[in-house]
Amino acid sequence: MRIFDPHIHMTSRTTDDYERMAAAGVRAVVEPAFWMGQPRTSVASFVDYFDSLIGWEPFRAGQFGVRHHATIALNPKEANDRRCRPVLDLLPRYLDKDAVVAVGEIGYDSMTPEEDEAFAAQLALAVAHDLPALVHTPHRDKARGVERTLAVVAESGIGAGRVVVDHLNEVTVKLVRDTGCWLGFSIYPDTKMTALRMVELLREYGTERMLVNSAADWGRSDPLLTRATGEAMLAAGFGDDDVDRVLWRNPVEFYGQSGRLDVSDVEDPAAVDPQTGNSILRGGS
Ligand SMILES: [Zn+2]
Repeated sequence: MRIFDPHIHMTSRTTDDYERMAAAGVRAVVEPAFWMGQPRTSVASFVDYFDSLIGWEPFRAGQFGVRHHATIALNPKEANDRRCRPVLDLLPRYLDKDAVVAVGEIGYDSMTPEEDEAFAAQLALAVAHDLPALVHTPHRDKARGVERTLAVVAESGIGAGRVVVDHLNEVTVKLVRDTGCWLGFSIYPDTKMTALRMVELLREYGTERMLVNSAADWGRSDPLLTRATGEAMLAAGFGDDDVDRVLWRNPVEFYGQSGRLDVSDVEDPAAVDPQTGNSILRGGS
């Protein structure tokens, strides 16, 4: 099973996690920029964070054979802190980098006017930089949050197919399904979605435009829940091809729209040249 986790905050995870993920089949990840758990006191804090997301963290992931890309943004929570707002002016510098495959996470946390402004401004940046957008939806008052999110996305002029609306559940999936946006689901150990509930949604809505992530961070979360979802799909009668579509080809297609996704070295490391017996993609290493 080859797995691409399209939303995971590896900065807050250990090397043990990378080891276990690689062993479970995780070959690529996208790490969205998010908040720190405590308030940032200046814009300089973002500069170091963004630099580590496109420099140190890909290097760390590479030591375990995992390909790492990032999405860059001012996240919704920090959009409410005026000390953080000036980072919006720094984003274009990062959105030009090859390691950055989308603008994100953007969207709503508490649905304040400040969040409105940052959300619209960053969708405009996604359009200007020809990048997809990863949109977080609020954990409280979710249905209203998703409705408002979709209205702002529609108004921005970004193509629906270039947007993933994340952290969906049984209620909000219906709101997004027919908009043409991609649908993101975060599988958590004890809140939000579980692997079994995810399988039910895949049964009902199919595998098209569906993305499954662990959204693992420094909170209670589990980077192996992508794998658990694949196992649950197989146990429920889905085929290997369905699992591959949801856990690999869909995220590759979505982030591939950036024109910057490079998973060639991990896509098929098991492929062996029948002539030489060497690994085709890794030169036999
Ligand atoms: Zn996140």
